[in-house]
Amino acid sequence: MMKIKKADRKRKFQPKCLLTDRQPAFTATGFLIPCCWVDNPTAWKEKKIKEFYDEKWHIDKHETVLEIMHGELFNDWWDMLENRPEEAPEICKRYCGSDLDDKVTKHDYFFKNKEEIK
Ligand code: SF4
Repeated sequence: MMKIKKADRKRKFQPKCLLTDRQPAFTATGFLIPCCWVDNPTAWKEKKIKEFYDEKWHIDKHETVLEIMHGELFNDWWDMLENRPEEAPEICKRYCGSDLDDKVTKHDYFFKNKEEIK
């Protein structure tokens, strides 16, 4: 059986939604968020994550996904990650305090070392 090594989450904060191909997520309640790791009750308590769930950003209030992705909400998010990373939510610092290739995509994570899966 393949042994999955636990990631070291105490490294430098490196936001994977900004620095890798980690994709945004669409929640079951109709909101776009920077990644699925922040769609949980613990993350919802964080001020910066809460903003993504404001009714004004609900999918029904916009014509296209890009309208939201190119709007003030996401622009402020990227700006914060790039210029003021110390303001990032604690949950982000935990998930993205590991190596950049840690769990970036299922493909990268599960199939990179295909020869190891036997
Ligand atoms: S945990 Fe936060 S910083 Fe990391 S990829 Fe997800 S949204 Fe971005």
